[in-house]
Amino acid sequence: MQDVHVIGAGPSGSVAATCAVRKGYNVILSEEHTSAGKPVHCSGLFSKTGLESIKEFVDYRKLIINPMHGAIIDFAGEKIQIRTKDAIAYVCDRAGLDEAITTNAIREGVKVEFGKRVTGNYLANTVIGGDGPFSHVASTFKFPKINEYVSTIQAHVKYKSETPDMVEVFLSNEHFPGLFGWIIPHTEEVAEFGVGVTLPHHSSTKAWNALLKMKGVEYSGELGGAVIPITVRKKTAGTFGKKKVLLVGDAAGQVKSTTGGGVIFGANCARYAGSHCDNPLRYELEWKARFGMDLFAHRQVHNFIYSKRDEELRALGSRLKRMELDKFLSNHGHMDKPTKMIRPELLKHFMQAV
Ligand SMILES: Cc1cc2nc3c(=O)[nH]c(=O)nc-3n(C[C@H](O)[C@H](O)[C@H](O)COP(=O)(O)OP(=O)(O)OC[C@H]3O[C@@H](n4cnc5c(N)ncnc54)[C@H](O)[C@@H]3O)c2cc1C
Repeated sequence: MQDVHVIGAGPSGSVAATCAVRKGYNVILSEEHTSAGKPVHCSGLFSKTGLESIKEFVDYRKLIINPMHGAIIDFAGEKIQIRTKDAIAYVCDRAGLDEAITTNAIREGVKVEFGKRVTGNYLANTVIGGDGPFSHVASTFKFPKINEYVSTIQAHVKYKSETPDMVEVFLSNEHFPGLFGWIIPHTEEVAEFGVGVTLPHHSSTKAWNALLKMKGVEYSGELGGAVIPITVRKKTAGTFGKKKVLLVGDAAGQVKSTTGGGVIFGANCARYAGSHCDNPLRYELEWKARFGMDLFAHRQVHNFIYSKRDEELRALGSRLKRMELDKFLSNHGHMDKPTKMIRPELLKHFMQAV
């Protein structure tokens, strides 16, 4: 019998396993696929600060595909541009990232079994569910459900971007209800196109066709796609008889509702799960104290944007321009932690609008 059984060798599961091993536990990590990181269902876009926060688990610099210097956000036709002097984010090799984090876990003493789907036959009394958006661990132990998911489609498309170092984001509740369309340049010639819409009422195929039409691009190749949870589970850890169970990453819903980005929050929360795997309550309290406010802020922004009709989004875009919020975000924007942007300079920008 092991001390800790981690299910899922995504970034969250592998980080949790590493941190538990560092505490002196015997840890086994089970992954249903034959290696970590594949198949890839991710754009691989991470903030620089986020990657720095997990650098003890992965040397991300070797995995950079394209540095990003900001974003062009299209509010249903009204664009604002946020440009940073230095790279604020990186497009990375996501499969490589997962593989590197798992390899590091093995190096530190985690025993990993690939090609093993776990459906209840747990090998330890402490179980960490890092098994993704439809967590089997969560349903086995009857954790509260995740309330909202988005469905995505993405593909690498031949596309010459005018701004190959900037992400394009398309907000439109007519075309992309619940999330957005995106273009993430990988090279001068190729970009990832993607769309996300909330389930179950909207069609990602319709959104995909809208994005291609909007950009005047034709594409008939293979499409990828997956589902992202965009709400946190009400409870993410507990004790059930002899079993201590902790959920991490997508399994817990530790994802930014604004963008669907979950790697950085998931991995950082997983650090607490590994360190406090003997105390589920402490894990729940610590990750919420550290990241709960930011995830809540993302949720509020998400709810605000997705309550607007397209004409209201356009008006919002022009109001933000008037407030010179593009300038503020270029200087003080933070992709992961909205709470870091609350600072006195913000007041000046609100004053511009009145
Ligand atoms: C189209 C798309 C684009 C995205 N882009 C970004 C982005 O740019 N940046 C970002 O930060 N996030 C992005 N995300 C979200 C990100 O991919 C997830 O938040 C992240 O993968 C969560 O990591 P995780 O370790 O919690 O789960 P996962 O990465 O899903 O890992 C779960 C692992 O568990 C394994 N598993 C599942 N069930 C079992 C079982 N029963 N037994 C054994 N193994 C099991 C799976 O095979 C998998 O390896 C994107 C998601 C999508 C769909």
